Amino acid sequence: MEGIKIGGGVDMINTKDLDPNFKYEVVKEHGGTNIMRCFACGTCTAGCPVRAIDDRYNPRKIIRMVLLGMKERVLKSDFIWLCSTCYTCYDRCPQDVRLSDIMTALKNIAVREGYIHPSFKEQAKLVGTFGRLYEVEDFDNKKRGKMGLPPVKKTFDDVTKIIKDTKLGEMIK
Ligand code: SF4
Ligand code: SF4
Repeated sequence: MEGIKIGGGVDMINTKDLDPNFKYEVVKEHGGTNIMRCFACGTCTAGCPVRAIDDRYNPRKIIRMVLLGMKERVLKSDFIWLCSTCYTCYDRCPQDVRLSDIMTALKNIAVREGYIHPSFKEQAKLVGTFGRLYEVEDFDNKKRGKMGLPPVKKTFDDVTKIIKDTKLGEMIK
């Protein structure tokens, strides 16, 4: 079969591009164990706060795509990075699929395969450089001094060391 229609004919997938082992890869990943319990009820999508502001985000569909073997499309997609890990779907899922953890598992696989969303790459670079998500300048510490607050360190070396030692630094170059 050349193509399969999903989502009411909106998406076309080519069976040649499918990886039937992708779902097993996700099952083996920490947090991904329960993915095959999903029976596509849509409770996760209905309660998702990200979905409420952007209807292109559809957690149920992401699970379907994984189960179908659409590895490249899932790992390259922006959508896996939109999950805010709020755990609403985790609490409400009747099948204990633990979707929030599956989204984390997908992000971890994506990073290993070299797909890191640019915004997260920039954030990780900042943490790798300063040990926090923003740079503290002299100006900030002067302002703190005027308010009677002690200065904050410009760099947290223990955090930057962790990034270096775990090789995350290599991945975010
Ligand atoms: S709520 Fe659970 S079972 Fe229902 S579609 Fe979402 S992950 Fe699947
Ligand atoms: S954990 Fe992610 S997918 Fe689940 S409801 Fe929250 S934002 Fe949506």
